[in-house]
Amino acid sequence: MGLGSREFETLVPSEMRKDVTFRFHGELNDFLAPPLRNVAFEHLAGTTDTLKHVIESLGVPHTEIGHVTVNGAPRDISAQLAEGDDIQVFPHTIPIPLNGVPTFVIDGHLGRLAAYLRMLGFDSWYQRLADDEALAAVSSHEHRILLTRDVGLLKRREIEHGYCVRADKPHDQLREVTRRFALAPHFAPFTRCMDCNGPLMPVSKSEVAHLLPPHTRETKNEFSRCLNCGKIFWRGSHHARMLGWIQDLANANL
Ligand SMILES: [Zn+2]
Repeated sequence: MGLGSREFETLVPSEMRKDVTFRFHGELNDFLAPPLRNVAFEHLAGTTDTLKHVIESLGVPHTEIGHVTVNGAPRDISAQLAEGDDIQVFPHTIPIPLNGVPTFVIDGHLGRLAAYLRMLGFDSWYQRLADDEALAAVSSHEHRILLTRDVGLLKRREIEHGYCVRADKPHDQLREVTRRFALAPHFAPFTRCMDCNGPLMPVSKSEVAHLLPPHTRETKNEFSRCLNCGKIFWRGSHHARMLGWIQDLANANL
């Protein structure tokens, strides 16, 4: 009990293992140990291992897999392996086709990305201290795409839709995610609260005037309010720059 897959391999006599060949394609190589990238390599798999198990033991979470062929024919990742199998593992075709407007659940380490996706109008579940259990449950029950940099989290069986964000900087992360899922047609900027994910509704100045800082009350006329947390928003000094940035993101999706 408690043995990792590599330890398991060393304990199982070779006659109980199967010698197969793997080749990973495209961006899937990001997850492999350097000597295994962009080459075909032999691998010893346990007799009862599924493709999912072996592929994930090599480092690639199932959420990143587009399709697999075994000896040239498509194969489900729940299938077992046979001696001499030639296994080719392909990433998803980008952009990923979506049914309608996608929703997200975002790892606690990616708070800026969550805020930016909300800025673009996307329903993005985020709690800074949420643990893996909670993230996996929300993704599974609410059919939200899990965005994380935690490869181990993406290997959890219950996660159907997920993506390992590669970029380090939040602006680059947003560009990466909007391109991967071709989000531009669904952009609805400034319709969702960046703090709490609630929907924003226009509100008249007279309704909120008593809540505004004096300078804002004198200089601004258009306001919206979060229906969830009540926060008031207006077009501040950064608004034009943010619009320019959003247009750049939309252009990058074309
Ligand atoms: Zn709010």
